[in-house]
Order: sequence, then structure tokens, then C-alpha cells
Amino acid sequence: MEEVRKKIRDIPNFPKEGIIFKDITTALGDPQSFKRIIDKLTERYRDMKIDKVVGIDARGFILAGALAYTLGAGFVPIRKSGKLPHTTKKISYDLEYGSNTIEIHEDAIAPGERVLIIDDLLATGGTMEAGASLVTQLGGEIVEIAFMIDLTFLEGKKKLKEHSVFSLIEF
Ligand code: AMP
Repeated sequence: MEEVRKKIRDIPNFPKEGIIFKDITTALGDPQSFKRIIDKLTERYRDMKIDKVVGIDARGFILAGALAYTLGAGFVPIRKSGKLPHTTKKISYDLEYGSNTIEIHEDAIAPGERVLIIDDLLATGGTMEAGASLVTQLGGEIVEIAFMIDLTFLEGKKKLKEHSVFSLIEF
């Protein structure tokens, strides 16, 4: 993963002052790095009988789509509010300033299905905590929660301590 780590680009003060944004487009755009990421995740989850890979809007979709394909699992999106056309389950959570709402189609996961949830990056953990709650509300069994990047100094894992959490790269 060292090679992949080197491909991640730091953008200071984006989207606002004081944030160092981890730009993964440079890693995803490099054929070898993208392959390494998906191969590594596939290796980890191949034998875990995953029924559904849930991706979080929007960068989580890139990883979740590719991984669902290699695992022979279904892909399920958790989207920002107002984008899904059918009946949904919604959840709101607090951000540093204001709040955010995400949702999932209520029939996207059947009770008892084995679910892997994935996003590009773990920061405070608020987004994933909300996403995991939606999956649990539908009766999905969360096998693991995966991230490409964990910003460990923000201790987002503490919010996810009921779950098994895996990340490919730590900063
Ligand atoms: P959080 O809910 O605080 O864990 O934030 C996670 C979400 O915000 C993920 O979907 C990330 O894509 C995005 N995010 C938060 N901080 C950063 C950062 N420093 N660089 C890139 N994306 C970030």
C-alpha cells in the first residue's frame, strides 16, 4: 500500500480553511494503484460470504462498485438526501457546522444479508455511524466497515466501536 499512499494528494485548505483534503483521484487514476486497492480488498473479503457491498455517496461508490463486482455481491448506494427515487429510510447526523441527511432504499437489503460498508475516508466517523445505522435498521448484518484511508488522529473509530473496522492506509 506504500505505492498507493504516495499517489494520494494533499490539498490544503479545501473545501475550507484548516482542512487538509486527501485527494484520492490521483490514486484512482493510476491503473496500478486502483488495481492494488481493489485486489487487496477482494483478497480480504473473498471468503466472507458478502451479499451486499454498500457504498457511501459519492467516492465510496467507486470502491464499492468495483468490489461488489469482484466479490460477486450486489452493490447498494447510500445517497445524500433527495437522490433516490423509491421509498427510503433516512437518517440525519451532525456535522461540525450544521447537519447532513443520507438515505437508503428500504428494500435494498433483506434482513440477515451479510453486508460490507465502504467509504473512501474515515474522519470523525459521523457519516459512517449514520450509514451503519441505516443498514442495521434494514436488518442487514454488518460483517465489516472498510475505508481506503483512516485519519487516525480524528479517532473516528471510536464512533464505530460496535463494528469491526478495516482501513488500507492510515495517516
Ligand atoms: P466523517 O463523517 O467526519 O468521518 O467524514 C467522512 C466523509 O467526509 C467521507 O465521505 C470523506 O469523503 C469526507 N472527508 C472528511 N474529511 C476529509 C478529508 N480530510 N479529505 C477528504 N475527504 C474527507
